[in-house]
Amino acid sequence: MNRTSILLGLIGEDISLSRTPAMHEAEGLAQGAATVYRRIDTLTTRAGNRSLKELLDAARATGFNGLNITHPYKQEILPLLDEVSEQASQLGAVNTVVIDEEGKTTGHNTDVTGFARGLEEGLPDATMTTVVQVGAGGVGNAVAYSLVTHGVEQLKVADLDPTRAEALARDINTAIGRDAVIGVDARGVEEHIAAADGVVNATPMGMLAHPGTAFDTSCLTPQHWVGDVVYMPIETELLVTARELGCRTLDGTRMAIHQAVDAFRLFTGLEPDVERMREAFLSS
Ligand code: NAD
Repeated sequence: MNRTSILLGLIGEDISLSRTPAMHEAEGLAQGAATVYRRIDTLTTRAGNRSLKELLDAARATGFNGLNITHPYKQEILPLLDEVSEQASQLGAVNTVVIDEEGKTTGHNTDVTGFARGLEEGLPDATMTTVVQVGAGGVGNAVAYSLVTHGVEQLKVADLDPTRAEALARDINTAIGRDAVIGVDARGVEEHIAAADGVVNATPMGMLAHPGTAFDTSCLTPQHWVGDVVYMPIETELLVTARELGCRTLDGTRMAIHQAVDAFRLFTGLEPDVERMREAFLSS
């Protein structure tokens, strides 16, 4: 690709607060390339009047090097792409599309690789035999797939909507060819957590608009590690309480930063500087 300039974008609905553009622009510039990362927000009429295919075609025609794809298009984008990585295809969700010089598109999922890298970086040597995940929505699907393809032997998933946990378990088990995930009842999830090595919150609980925790934290002991996908705020009630109880913790910034680090590498072929992208994330 032409590394004197980099043109990227994010297609999604209601993405004005995304910190991903700032990370890519800062990293591209630091590596000596004029870098523009556009928000293509379908809440605006400019983009909202177009189909996803039209937006993708426009990016190909105008020489974009790549796109990130977010809610609600991560599944819908798959059949529009020329190629999809095995991981993204198994999960059925793409968040990163690389566009080559000829306009050929390849889909990847860096939510999966980014969560795994963040876990490895933030909680090295964490025991992964049995893990509980609370929340089986969009982010929960990528996190669950990431966990069971990066060392977790058994994953128990609970959601207020039990059909979501069941569907997640069925889809991931089918995709990976082993019964690694089971759906469990959200009422009483604390019993499963007490017997597990670690727990991940993949619900919005802990955000300013959703204060509190998704489960009763009195089931935690210093033997547990505790992860959160929420990063606004970074210090959620769950993580603060878990640390007070002596648990090791992993905050939601790791996934948010590493999904961008992995996407930048795919988009540009350049090796990103993780600390520089972390600084851009934290200051945006
Ligand atoms: P979503 O709405 O698709 O899914 C959330 C799920 O949590 C739903 O299925 C809901 O039923 C369940 N839930 C809510 N409260 C619960 C509770 N108390 N117990 C059990 N289940 C409960 O949302 P999403 O897109 O998966 O996003 C979840 C959160 O992830 C967001 O709120 C955001 O804070 C965070 N997020 C993090 C990153 C990152 O990179 N770290 C990226 C995007 C979003």
